[in-house]
Amino acid sequence: MSQKVIWAPWRMEYILDDNKQSLKNQCLFCQIAAESADRQNLVLYRGKHAYVMMNRYPYNNGHLMIIPFQHTNDLAQLPAPVFVEVMELFRRSIANLQQALQADGFNGGINLGKIAGAGIDAHLHFHIVPRWQGDYNFMPVIGETKVMPQHLLETYDNLVQYFTAERMES
Ligand SMILES: [Zn+2]
Repeated sequence: MSQKVIWAPWRMEYILDDNKQSLKNQCLFCQIAAESADRQNLVLYRGKHAYVMMNRYPYNNGHLMIIPFQHTNDLAQLPAPVFVEVMELFRRSIANLQQALQADGFNGGINLGKIAGAGIDAHLHFHIVPRWQGDYNFMPVIGETKVMPQHLLETYDNLVQYFTAERMES
């Protein structure tokens, strides 16, 4: 796989990595929810109805996903309390990214269906991509994170402190 194919907006979904290939017939998001290896899986926070994780193949540094525990690809199937928590985690994540990474702005949203670019279209997930002034030039550098997992863990260790502090408050 070429490392030069770095970024196409909204194509950078969570892609199955090699050690997950054996799980390809299962849902990766359900699998990660069931596992307890949160740092390894880049899971930053577990709420009651949803969790927050970093995208392993980020569009930008600090690219997060909010994932309901419920396995569905239908927004209408999410009960109101789940949807409320997803939105709450959405704004908390943005606040944490502002503090931890001094992001200047954000893109956020959802890809519904393969045609819209969803890498895992069976299980809803909401994206948050932090943006910085001049990050257009930053993109090729960020692309290197695809081959530098330690960079992801550095960001993880920074971000997780903000989510952990919140957990104690709530
Ligand atoms: Zn699932």
